[in-house]
Amino acid sequence: MDGIGDSVERFRPDHHADTLPEVSLDMLSAAGVRGIVVDLDNTVCAYHQPELAPGVADWVAAARARGFALVLVSNNFSERVASVGAKLGISVVPNALKPLPFAFLRALRLLGTPRRATIVIGDQLFTDVLGAKFLGLRTLLTKPLVEHDFPLTRVLRFLERTIARRT
Ligand SMILES: [Mg+2]
Repeated sequence: MDGIGDSVERFRPDHHADTLPEVSLDMLSAAGVRGIVVDLDNTVCAYHQPELAPGVADWVAAARARGFALVLVSNNFSERVASVGAKLGISVVPNALKPLPFAFLRALRLLGTPRRATIVIGDQLFTDVLGAKFLGLRTLLTKPLVEHDFPLTRVLRFLERTIARRT
C-alpha cells in the first residue's frame, strides 16, 4: 500500500454506529472485546450538557452486567469528566490530550484488558479513532450527538469529511 493509502487506513474505524446505545454488546462479545474505552463529549453527553444522552445509562449498565470493563477517557476537564463517570459508575481519565497515547495507556491499565480485546468508542476520527489506532486498539465511530462543537473541532470535522470521501 502506498503512503497516502496507509494514511487513510489510519482513519478507518473498525465499526460504526449512530449512537452509543445502538452499539451491539453481542457484536462486541463476538469480536472478542472485553474492555471498552468511551469518549464523553458528543458520545455520552452533548457538549456543555451535564445530562447523559437517552439510553446511555442503560447501555453502560447492561455492558457492566455482562462483565465488560469500561472507562471514560475525555479531553475535557477533571470536574466534568468525574461527574459523568460517577453517574455511570465507571473510572475516568480526564484531560486526556487524545490522540496522544498516554491517556489510552492509562485506560488500558485501569481496564486490565489486552489491546486486542479493547475497543475505543467515540465520535471523532482525529482524537478517538486515530489515537486508538496508534496503539493497535479496535475502534468504533459514532455520529456526534449534536453538531455544535468547539471551533477547533469544526476545523477537524471539515478534515474528517475530506478524508471520508477518500475511504
Ligand atoms: Mg467526542
